[in-house]
Amino acid sequence: MKVVSEFSAAQKSALAAIVGRERFSAGVSVRENHRHDISYHRGRPPAGVVWPLSTAEVAAILRWSYEEGVPVTPWGAGTSTEGNPVPAAGGLVMDFTRMNRILAIRPQDMQADVQPGVFRKTLNRRAGKHGLFFPPDPGADATIGGMIANNASGIQTVRYGATKDYVMRLTVVLPGGEIIHTGCLAPKSSSGYDLTRLFVGSEGTLGVVTEASLRLTGLPAHHLAATIGFPSLEKASQAVTALIVSGLEPAALELLTPNLIRLMNREKSLGLPEQPTLFCEFHGVSQATLGEIRQLTAELCQGYGAGELHFGMEEERRADLWRARHEAWETIHRAHPGRETLIVDAAVPISRYPEMVVFAQAQVDELRVVGYVFGHAGDGNLHVVMVGDPDRPGEWQALEEVNHRIVARAVEVGGTCTGEHGVGIGKRCFMRREHGASLELMRRIKELVDPRGLMNPGKIFPVEAPEDGGPQG
Ligand SMILES: Cc1cc2nc3c(=O)[nH]c(=O)nc-3n(C[C@H](O)[C@H](O)[C@H](O)COP(=O)(O)OP(=O)(O)OC[C@H]3O[C@@H](n4cnc5c(N)ncnc54)[C@H](O)[C@@H]3O)c2cc1C
Repeated sequence: MKVVSEFSAAQKSALAAIVGRERFSAGVSVRENHRHDISYHRGRPPAGVVWPLSTAEVAAILRWSYEEGVPVTPWGAGTSTEGNPVPAAGGLVMDFTRMNRILAIRPQDMQADVQPGVFRKTLNRRAGKHGLFFPPDPGADATIGGMIANNASGIQTVRYGATKDYVMRLTVVLPGGEIIHTGCLAPKSSSGYDLTRLFVGSEGTLGVVTEASLRLTGLPAHHLAATIGFPSLEKASQAVTALIVSGLEPAALELLTPNLIRLMNREKSLGLPEQPTLFCEFHGVSQATLGEIRQLTAELCQGYGAGELHFGMEEERRADLWRARHEAWETIHRAHPGRETLIVDAAVPISRYPEMVVFAQAQVDELRVVGYVFGHAGDGNLHVVMVGDPDRPGEWQALEEVNHRIVARAVEVGGTCTGEHGVGIGKRCFMRREHGASLELMRRIKELVDPRGLMNPGKIFPVEAPEDGGPQG
């Protein structure tokens, strides 16, 4: 991995000539701000940061970087949790926050064309005027480019799917500056290799997304939210599996453990019983449909010992609960000032979810780490947010050990090391275990598309020996 720590005067002039002086910076604070995402992973300060506005500018920059041998790391909002946008080899960071226009909303087709720096909440405010929305909802207000590159998902994925299910057509600039278009605007297509899906989840390692056409969906007419308390973690997670196979189609199904609820109560005065709890939401075309769903859900959960069932709360309470859930990671951080977090993001087939949850909690207890088990239960996605100090190797090693044990078990039962956060730096070490020989095909694809290895180097693929003291994984 070639490291570029500083640009020469000629290189700075060349970049400023492409985008203008005000959209290129080699200033220390700008470089430092683009050195880390929200995780403990630290990259190298880039040699400079550029804010492109158009596909043509991105193409000119990638032509230049290819000729100069300069690594390029795309940057959305920097809310990744695995070091995904962290420049591992310095070089140039391409920040998309100013390339942020919604180019079109086509209500009749339920589609939108956007530049990559559009924030999902901005898109949803605009789409909402047409009775539409873009459902993938990571807790953070991420950019569409970052969500595509990480294949982000969120609380409503159980009903509506992940980002990959909403990307129809992409404009991508390849290393070297070639511009391609993938996919089409038709609802279906069997035409050749699905290159759109190759770029979704590629974490900026194959090229740069400069435009996306997205599928939107209709805003739900009616909501029913519920919190349901259970006597044990096992019973709560068994109810998750039962709810999914019941066909009741929850729009959100989140599992929270008592120690996390305790923190949320303390910070946000939620007044929830401190017991294993499901946060659920259902969407329906009428109140009558939701009434039936409510009754069936209650009966089903009572079969698993549910005692505290609260359905149909008013809008303000519903918004408070979901805000609290979205901000769980921040709440944990605030409760442990000065500490970093390591986040488990394993996902398993839904039938294996109950045993995984119990297994995860057992590892946290056995290794005595401070850890909060929760997750997008309806997707079989399990998070454990563990708290520690990376500068205390003994302490941090225990967190890593819990992570390794959970991922090993998840992969063993047919799951994955990352349900939604992507590989970045943090999950590289699991790639061989999870993908075996197909990791080599991924490597060959990377070499074919990016023969000089300049696009977001040091991500996704395990490094045998870290070079130059760079980020390890
Ligand atoms: C509190 C909190 C909760 C979260 N909850 C969730 C959750 O529930 N589900 C979930 O999926 N994630 C979650 N995340 C993680 C994060 O928000 C998502 O992964 C999000 O998609 C990152 O988007 P971003 O705009 O911040 O991108 P960045 O972090 O800036 O970048 C992400 C990746 O995209 C690449 N990239 C950015 N723009 C482009 C482009 N134009 N072309 C090519 N590559 C590009 C970057 O190089 C990087 O590899 C959470 C984060 C936080 C802080």
